Amino acid sequence: MKDTILSFGNLIGGQWIPAEDARANVNPSDTNDIIGHYASADASAVDAAVAAARDAFEAWSQTSPQVRHDLLDAVGTSILARKEEIGRLLAREEGKTLPEAIGETTRAGQVFKFFAGEALRIAGDAQASTRPDIDVEVIREPVGVVGLITPWNFPIAIPAWKIAPALAYGNCAVLKPADLTPGCAHVIAEALHEAGCPSGVFNLVMGRGSVVGEAIVTHDGIDAVSFTGSAATGARIAETCGRLRKKVQTEMGGKNPMVVLDDADLDIAVPACLNGAYFSTGQRCTASSRLIVQSGIHDAFVERLSREMQALKVGDALDAGTQIGPVVDERQLASNLDYVAIARSEAAEVIGGDRIDGPAPGFFQAPALFLGTDNGMRINREEIFGPCASVIRVTNAEEALAVANDTEFGLSAGICTSSLKHARTFRRRVEAGMVMVNLPTAGVDYHVPFGGRKGSSYGAREQGRYAVEFYTTVKTSYISAG
Ligand code: NAP
Repeated sequence: MKDTILSFGNLIGGQWIPAEDARANVNPSDTNDIIGHYASADASAVDAAVAAARDAFEAWSQTSPQVRHDLLDAVGTSILARKEEIGRLLAREEGKTLPEAIGETTRAGQVFKFFAGEALRIAGDAQASTRPDIDVEVIREPVGVVGLITPWNFPIAIPAWKIAPALAYGNCAVLKPADLTPGCAHVIAEALHEAGCPSGVFNLVMGRGSVVGEAIVTHDGIDAVSFTGSAATGARIAETCGRLRKKVQTEMGGKNPMVVLDDADLDIAVPACLNGAYFSTGQRCTASSRLIVQSGIHDAFVERLSREMQALKVGDALDAGTQIGPVVDERQLASNLDYVAIARSEAAEVIGGDRIDGPAPGFFQAPALFLGTDNGMRINREEIFGPCASVIRVTNAEEALAVANDTEFGLSAGICTSSLKHARTFRRRVEAGMVMVNLPTAGVDYHVPFGGRKGSSYGAREQGRYAVEFYTTVKTSYISAG
């Protein structure tokens, strides 16, 4: 007997709204596997969600921090207790391997727990006035109703790192997850609902970016927008929010450099590059896509990296032993294959990169390494967002730093070296929001700020204690005893 395909609706004002229009959520490892039908809402659902959030805001913003702590802590506990099951769903809908998916789910649970604690630590400033008998306090207040728009590549961690601080600091939220991966966001909504989140404090509206996302960004009742996704969409959203005087933060793409100097330890550099470039199918904003390698180590590095890259096992995300899961969908795969063709047309030597068959019909691609490239090529200027990396040969550390910085992006950057001097110079002078020494450019902690510079990020930082900047606004209060 065929399994019934479940239908998942939006959560608006504390009610699950059955999906009238829905979209099939398809497993990229096996396109015969339909995970469920998820709501594809229109702008009227956003109106209802924003109205519910506005109604809930007054009471929620005044709740005791203990209430907010307990809610977020309970959600964290629930996600961590279900991490295997949720990880399976994540691997099925997004295509990262099961261990990666369980790792991401764990991170989401930890993020909820971290911000549960932060709800109890909202600090202000008490200062002496320049005038006698007056006290001055700078206090933090929630921004209001925030719109959260998230991409498909971290379908549980990114919603978590926006929802948790939004609620911790007393805001109400409307989340629009990526249309390709709504399942994990729906799980968070369930966890919040089951943990007793008051009606309207958190609302889930699934649907297309051009419809639901656009309606959130332009809605009068939305005070602030936190967006993660591509540079093109982020730039449009930042422009619109500027015009409408909404607070905005946009976390966008990268073209992250990983420098390998002659004095690097290959036992560190090769695994770091292999991980940074290809794990999670290269679908990470922090992926190492430009490997900037000094001449003396170049040939040994390339020989070993290409050998180990070609040995990576590409397959079904749920299969034990799979190291690289599928690309997320047909459109992303076509774009990756276009870049492989562009690499050839730019006279790079291409190793791998072809579409390959998997155990079932899906979107599988062999990892690709582009050799003999220079930093002016399109493959080194534009974010590919797939399992593709280029090697750029340089003669010294100074040139490596200049090439690393010669990009419109500035998210993450790494260097492999055994020289403290080179590591220190790179850490200080690289134009990136995050810098890694002898570590992959991807893979970060959940309790410290995450974000970039230049074309990668706009607005306040996300995560860690720094999230308070975006999700609160300050009020300066003067008081005289009279
Ligand atoms: P995307 O196409 O920009 O979409 C991101 C989100 O925006 C999706 O929910 C999308 O909805 C929505 N959207 C699309 N058009 C919109 C509009 N006109 N108004 C409002 N919302 C709209 O990005 P993606 O392909 O999902 O994600 C990949 C990108 O995210 C990469 O560039 C990657 O580097 C970046 N990323 C950055 C970070 C970071 O923290 N810096 C982290 C992860 C990923 P639909 O799903 O319907 O398209």
